Amino acid sequence: MAEDLYKVLGVAKGASDEEIKKAYRKLARKYHPDRNPDDPKAEERFKEVQGAYDVLSDSEKRKEYDAGGGMFGGFGGGPGGGGPFGAGGTAGGFDVGDIFSNLFGRGSGGRVQPQQARGRDLETEVSLSFDQAVNGAQVQVTVPKAERCPTCHGSGAKPGTRPVTCPRCEGRGIDAQSQGFFSISQPCPQCGGQGQIIEDPCPSCGGSGLTQQTKRYKVNIPAGVKDGARIRLAGKGEAGQRGGPPGDLFVVTRVASSPVFKRLDGGNLEVTVPITIAEALRGATIEVPTLEGTKKIKVGPGTKHGSIQRLRGEGAARPRGNGKGDIRYRLEIEMPEELTPEQEAAAEKLAEAFNGADPRAELLAKAGRR
Ligand SMILES: [Zn+2]
Ligand SMILES: [Zn+2]
Repeated sequence: MAEDLYKVLGVAKGASDEEIKKAYRKLARKYHPDRNPDDPKAEERFKEVQGAYDVLSDSEKRKEYDAGGGMFGGFGGGPGGGGPFGAGGTAGGFDVGDIFSNLFGRGSGGRVQPQQARGRDLETEVSLSFDQAVNGAQVQVTVPKAERCPTCHGSGAKPGTRPVTCPRCEGRGIDAQSQGFFSISQPCPQCGGQGQIIEDPCPSCGGSGLTQQTKRYKVNIPAGVKDGARIRLAGKGEAGQRGGPPGDLFVVTRVASSPVFKRLDGGNLEVTVPITIAEALRGATIEVPTLEGTKKIKVGPGTKHGSIQRLRGEGAARPRGNGKGDIRYRLEIEMPEELTPEQEAAAEKLAEAFNGADPRAELLAKAGRR
């Protein structure tokens, strides 16, 4: 069981947080159950990767893991596992005052309240087509995470047994030793400050009260969502420890781009539309794509290359239900690479018609060349 979490992610032991995150994302994508339906091996790998990331992405857990020489008892140290002080109560390097205020709250001494911990926030990605992002959609996400163990309902004790009062500290959670004038208190090494120990750990979770499970959630994607948006699912993160509240789940959108519609801010879209020289000169009514189908727009006579025509309210939903954006049609005059004999003749006639016009006269005069 004590496999090397760094190996699971394929990173070196001294890997940076960024490297770990990158490796995790790559592997999580590869083995994601949505991509490998009905492949229990991939799901198993996925859980391993998730489990390794749970530890290595959390600086406290990682420190603990590194200190344990690669052995790690499970999730964040339930009683019986490598609790915060499980390895003989070494508080070296920590600020003991901090530890105490964290563990026991303000009123230290007396009987310990079991330390509740809020579950971790989780993040998962969801891939959306351009249409789904523009129109909104309901999608399903699959999230492997630590959930309350169904066998022991989170207590960590084998069914039929209960956690018992720690004999060393008699439930106080504090180990006090007199040394001369001083009485040195530290969290009880036997129970890790919990005040209780589990004599018969639950066989399913090894006493942590949490097991890796795969959960599926439906996510409502709001219309007009952009790439990289974070949608929060409150309480759908990891289960809390010892009855603590669960974390949140953040769903990050990955939106495919459209070959036609370029997304701008505020629900606005841009489409590049080619027009002919003749249409630019004389004006025309042209057909353009919209999100639902097509519409006709008028191009005025003398339209310049790169000018914009707008269809209001035809774009994507604006943020916060603020109506819809526009589609901007960027008109680009298409230059033919070669002219047909007919076009050649027409171009000649056009040149004749413009004979006598000298658009550069002013320019050359300004430059003092004439
Ligand atoms: Zn259990
Ligand atoms: Zn104890």
